[in-house]
Formats: sequence, C-alpha cells, structure tokens
Amino acid sequence: MHKESIHPLVSAGEPRVARMPLERAHRWLAEREPGEPRTQVFLTQTTFQAIDRHANSDLDNEVGGWLAGRWCCQPGDGAQYIIIEALLPAQQVRSGSTFLTFTHDSQVAMLAALEERYANKCIVGWYHTHPRMDIFLSGYDLWLHQHFFPHPWQVALVVEPHSHTAGFFIPDAEQQLEARRFYGFHELMNRKRQPLVDWKNLRLQSPAQDAKDDPSALVQPAALPATSAKRKPSQPQGQADQPSTEKEP
Ligand SMILES: [Zn+2]
Repeated sequence: MHKESIHPLVSAGEPRVARMPLERAHRWLAEREPGEPRTQVFLTQTTFQAIDRHANSDLDNEVGGWLAGRWCCQPGDGAQYIIIEALLPAQQVRSGSTFLTFTHDSQVAMLAALEERYANKCIVGWYHTHPRMDIFLSGYDLWLHQHFFPHPWQVALVVEPHSHTAGFFIPDAEQQLEARRFYGFHELMNRKRQPLVDWKNLRLQSPAQDAKDDPSALVQPAALPATSAKRKPSQPQGQADQPSTEKEP
C-alpha cells in the first residue's frame, strides 16, 4: 500500500445542522458498551442489507469498503452524529484470509463512484469483515484508520459473517480508537419500521427506554458473550484474534 496515496475527504467542511432522527430509529447496544460514544452512528436499513450481502459474499477472505453518508451536528447540544447511507465496496483489494488492504486502484475507483453516485455524501468511515475471527481492530486496522480516516467522526465497522456479529469502533475524545472497544448503533427505519438487524452480539434497546440509561443494565447474564466466536473448539489454531494476524503493509 502507498501510504501517501489517497486520503478520503480530508476536506470535509462543516457538519450539517439537523436533529438526530431518534424517533425513526431503533438502538442496538453492544454488551459492556463503554458509555455513550463520542459520535452517534445511524445506519439505514438499506445500507445494513448491503453490508450484510457483501460480508456474506466471501466467507473465507476479508472484504470491505468505504461507508458514505452525512456528518451532522445537532442544534442546541452540538452532539455529533453520522448517518451511513451507502456503501462503496472495494473492488480491487489484495485480500487474504487474515487481512484486507485498500489498493491505490480500489481507492481511485471508490472516489470516482463517490463523485458520480453520491456527490452530496462524504466518507464517514469504512467496513471490513473478519471471517472466523473476533470483532476487534488489528494493529494494521488501527494504522489504516489513522492514516486514511483522520476525522474524529469517521468510524470503523468490523463484521464477522459466520457468527453474525459486528461492532462499530468510534474515536473517543482524544481521537483514539481502542482495539477492543466497540459500540452498537441506531438502525434507521424505513417505512415498515421493523428492525432488520440480526447481528447477534447486539441487543435492541427498548424505544421507550431513556437513552441516558446505563447500557450495562441491558446486558443479559445468560447471553452469549460478544467474544464467544473465538472460543469455538472448531476454530483452527493460529487463526485466533491477535492483532498480529493482520500485518503492516
Ligand atoms: Zn481487520
């Protein structure tokens, strides 16, 4: 990978000022979610389905791409949030079972697609799969995020397609990501208003529940821990969850 090749939308300008669409959303919480994320994430159902399709299109190799949408700021309290509205799947990736990288060509193609199809959107983050691995950011993932997605409101989504688990990694107040600190998100409803998300490590928060409630109160003791995927006995040795399984380019 060329480190200096492309920085997606470094000049993102100002956020749109708009109220959070909480009344049209269901909130999914990760277990042991560490308080409120610095940036709230809204994901449209159409985009969730597109991510799900792409994640399941290759169960052996990592796939990924960019997340396009809107960066917003709520009037009054100034809370920042993003709305993920489209995917830009990376076509020409150099992928193996343990890592994915965005090549220069794939980034040129994604930037062209962004300009052509989503001229009013910006890159709000990226996603990739971890087949038969855990939900975490490897050392390489952290490096990639830091270099290609420098804005504090840009997020990283990791999906494990076998266990149907996922999590959003969101920079904290110091603009840092932690390798194992991930969050759920707000599922932005279409007209049917039925939740579609089936990522099994996330719990649906009751719409009536005050968002200020302690998320840890929702954890069900009998529920499967979010990290259970890596404990399967059938897991091949050496494909564990250590960040070193994804290498620096
Ligand atoms: Zn990764």
